Amino acid sequence: MNFTNFPRRRYLDGATPLEPMPRLSKALGGKVDLWIKRDDLLPGAAGGNKTRKLEFLIGEAVEQGANSLITCGAVQSNHCRLTLAWACKEGIDCHLILEERVPGSYDPKAGGNNFLFQLMGAASIRVVPGGSDMLAEMQKTAEELKQKGKRPYIIPGGGSNATGALGYALFAEEFMGQINEGSLKVDSLVVPSGSAGTHSGVVAGLFGNNAGIPVIGMNVSRKKDAQETLVHNLALKLSEKLSIAAVPRELVVCHDEYLGDGYSRPTQSMKEAVLLFARQEGILLDPVYSGKAAAGLLDFVRKGAFAEGSTVVFLHTGGDTALFVYQDYLV
Ligand SMILES: *Cc1c(COP(=O)(O)O)cnc(C)c1O
Repeated sequence: MNFTNFPRRRYLDGATPLEPMPRLSKALGGKVDLWIKRDDLLPGAAGGNKTRKLEFLIGEAVEQGANSLITCGAVQSNHCRLTLAWACKEGIDCHLILEERVPGSYDPKAGGNNFLFQLMGAASIRVVPGGSDMLAEMQKTAEELKQKGKRPYIIPGGGSNATGALGYALFAEEFMGQINEGSLKVDSLVVPSGSAGTHSGVVAGLFGNNAGIPVIGMNVSRKKDAQETLVHNLALKLSEKLSIAAVPRELVVCHDEYLGDGYSRPTQSMKEAVLLFARQEGILLDPVYSGKAAAGLLDFVRKGAFAEGSTVVFLHTGGDTALFVYQDYLV
């Protein structure tokens, strides 16, 4: 696939590591060979998946001459943290609108990502109730900024439109390069599925590479049908953008069994996964995304959903900053 026609800022520094997890594989019975793709180690303050999307999103913003970014997310949003970090690096203002999805959960003094919003100096932070029309809220901020003579650019929640998802289609090229180089025959790739840019991009990118590697999405915010529709619709937009054949619906597979009571609400299986990865491999997951996705991975291994002798890669999307606001729950 050709990505050179899309404006892009360069934030990556080569491929993220693709590592085996021998101790975790053994702790789970040794029948499945587990590997991890370390997108938690991507560049950008505290790391994580949004940097791949922001290369293309901020690339477009800069090309359009924008001098203010507006984005939105949950009260502990990793996406807001990384958008702000790269905005700092670019010398562009960054305005955040935070959705209080769990009533009463916003605390201006909270640690984790919220602390980093303050530390990196967001140009403004506005908190709106859960269920608000976030696009309308961002447009409101954009109008105010235009009246002050600014040129704002709106980045949707999670950076998940076709432009942002390009970053994860390009990820597929990086990943294929690594597995071909290492002759690693991968039977499945497990990814967290949230605002859908990551999952859609990976599916479209692997499909565009004719990889034949099944992708399993573990939901962190929606039920199965709603999430599969969201991921597939975005994958279709992306296939059009990349001039590849339309991604078939059956390539989009989501599981909601590890979601618990909903987005950001902790579960026992997430806690177990966070502790197991930390203690077996020294790898820090997060409570909201990678912890729940890893809970799905562990359950799949234990129930024999992967054939004996298969190789499964887990995409670690980052987010460990949020561990520090779940301290009481985790230990
Ligand atoms: C945003 C995020 C995800 C989910 O990615 P989407 O593209 O929104 O589906 C997963 N893990 C972490 C740590 C994130 O911040």
